[in-house]
Amino acid sequence: MKTVKEYIRTIPDFPHEGIMFRDVTTLFADARGFRMAVDQLLHPYAGQPIDVVVGLEARGFILGGAIAHQLGKGFVPIRKKGKLPGAVIEQPYQLEYGEAVMEMHDDAISAGQTVLVVDDLLATGGTAEAGIKLIERLGGEVVGCAFVIDLPELGGRKRLEALGMEVHALCD
Ligand code: IMP
Repeated sequence: MKTVKEYIRTIPDFPHEGIMFRDVTTLFADARGFRMAVDQLLHPYAGQPIDVVVGLEARGFILGGAIAHQLGKGFVPIRKKGKLPGAVIEQPYQLEYGEAVMEMHDDAISAGQTVLVVDDLLATGGTAEAGIKLIERLGGEVVGCAFVIDLPELGGRKRLEALGMEVHALCD
């Protein structure tokens, strides 16, 4: 039986030369692989109170939607600047070259709600940290950050753990 990692494909030189892009579309396209990923992402949080699942654009929407459905909870998207239609709060973060901004609707989370953050891949942790800051600015409490892939050499796990986060990844 294939593991989650074995369903993930690597595309060399995407989106730029020298980048090895970890492509989870092959995991999502396989019924068994997708179910296994969702079940394994949820596993550590069984019995923990989670009020809301937050997904980071864009593959975090696919995983987060499935996880929220399985938990019987709501789903909230965190998106790149300019994509959400309502009033938003913004959080800038550093990219390798320059800066980007993540946004969340300003009424998407209520103070005291417990939140699970989901994305496909953790690299430097900048995207997830921006998401965590948005959630915490609205008074949400992040109970965990779940990823299919962790790239440990890029330091994201250490960065999130230094913020007091519990990080769960299915493979390195
Ligand atoms: P970070 O902010 O450096 O941790 O980068 C993580 C973000 O970039 C996530 O939203 C990922 O979806 C995306 N990302 C970076 N590299 C890859 C990759 O190789 N495959 C899929 N997504 C990636």
